[in-house]
Amino acid sequence: MSASTPPTPRDARTPEPTGAPTPEGAPKPTPGTAHAPAPAAATPEATSATAQEAAPATTRATAQEAAPTATPEATAEGAHARETLPTLLVKIFGKDRPGITAGLFDTLAAYSVDVIDIEQVVTRGRIVLCALVTAPPTGLEGDLRATVHSWAESVKLQAEIISGRGDNRPRGLGRSLVTVLGHPLTAESTAAIAACITGTGGNIDRIFRLAKYPVTAVEFAVSGTETEPLRTALATEAHALGVDVAVVSAGLHRRAQRLVVMDVDSTLIQDEVIELFAAHAGCEEEVAAVTTAAMRGELDFEESLHARVALLKGLDVSSVDKVRTEVRLTPGARTLIRTLKRLGYQVGVVSGGFTQVTDDLKERLGLDFAHANTLEIVDGKLTGKVTGEIVDRAGKARLLRRFAAEAGVPLEQTVAIGDGANDLDMLNAAGLGVAFNAKPMVREAAHTAVNVPFLDTVLYLLGITREEVEAADMHLDHD
Ligand SMILES: [Mg+2]
Repeated sequence: MSASTPPTPRDARTPEPTGAPTPEGAPKPTPGTAHAPAPAAATPEATSATAQEAAPATTRATAQEAAPTATPEATAEGAHARETLPTLLVKIFGKDRPGITAGLFDTLAAYSVDVIDIEQVVTRGRIVLCALVTAPPTGLEGDLRATVHSWAESVKLQAEIISGRGDNRPRGLGRSLVTVLGHPLTAESTAAIAACITGTGGNIDRIFRLAKYPVTAVEFAVSGTETEPLRTALATEAHALGVDVAVVSAGLHRRAQRLVVMDVDSTLIQDEVIELFAAHAGCEEEVAAVTTAAMRGELDFEESLHARVALLKGLDVSSVDKVRTEVRLTPGARTLIRTLKRLGYQVGVVSGGFTQVTDDLKERLGLDFAHANTLEIVDGKLTGKVTGEIVDRAGKARLLRRFAAEAGVPLEQTVAIGDGANDLDMLNAAGLGVAFNAKPMVREAAHTAVNVPFLDTVLYLLGITREEVEAADMHLDHD
């Protein structure tokens, strides 16, 4: 049959001459069994169960369907049949236009083939569409090839058809998602990251762009290697390249994250609130000296908090309102929170700073949870003391657990974001801990690090694309 006269669907659906005729109205043999002998080990129970579904046992009782009672031999036979099933890889590429996917499958439909896998990608208006299908009935492959090429030519596309056997090669054990944030993402970095993945024994199964703004974010789906060694190898590489690389294990849990808890100073906001108060009290240098001593390890967090707050003694309460207006949100903070809220996440903050500021942020940003230290105010003046339980390093982790319990979210479904040493317990307690523009010690201890100054890039680590963020914004505009 020539390419100009494709078979009618009726012609092609004629049962294969060598196979047993399929009774009228009965389902077609499924791929994997059509060319395989009937499973010898199907038990009478399995056969009668499928017979109730009004199909002959020879075509319905596949090794898979009989799995509960099938012997290992029968299962192996089914797997062997799937591996040796003749298949065609049909690849179409060229200028994208509407209707290409429908056009290809309309063309293939005439040959009674089944779809095993489809992948399609469009980059700058060029489409690559790959379809893995079962081979057509005996004698029709040449005809199918000619018809697909003829259709492709008619829509100015190129086609490549490769015969083979079976499905895709099974992916190796161990699945991870590697998110790379580049600002910009250079070819050199991409090459180094890909080589590093390969060097750990991993295979890149798929690459997908998550965002082009404010950074270029690309996700690699990797199999064949464990998440931890991959994370270690890539962390070293990323640091040398100056890009951010986050490695998480792939799986359903990534889509189940439901609570995000953030530090405030130098994370949600660009400032350190104590320094803003110190500027009003005229004691910036003294506060900075205490901070430096704490960083040298001479004071712990609680001691340094008390020492710094003591310097604010006598400051007028009007400074609280002034500080609130001076606070600068980190770029991307509103986008991050708005998008998370729309996706049904609960969002909270924990801070070693002060409720006088965090309560205001909670109100303004629509946060679900907020907890911090409280500056004591008596007769319109700061007393230089804090009241209540101190929020320190251990306190932050405790609050994450408390928020998770209140939100009804298991700890492994939480995300924590912070920049300081006092965030480390919280970052480690969370399902995913993100060090945000953090000091090296924090960066190295956290699950993952973001070093670009945009808080909304955390969305990409959760697999949320820029397009989804923007689509959600547009949807809201039209509400
Ligand atoms: Mg901080």
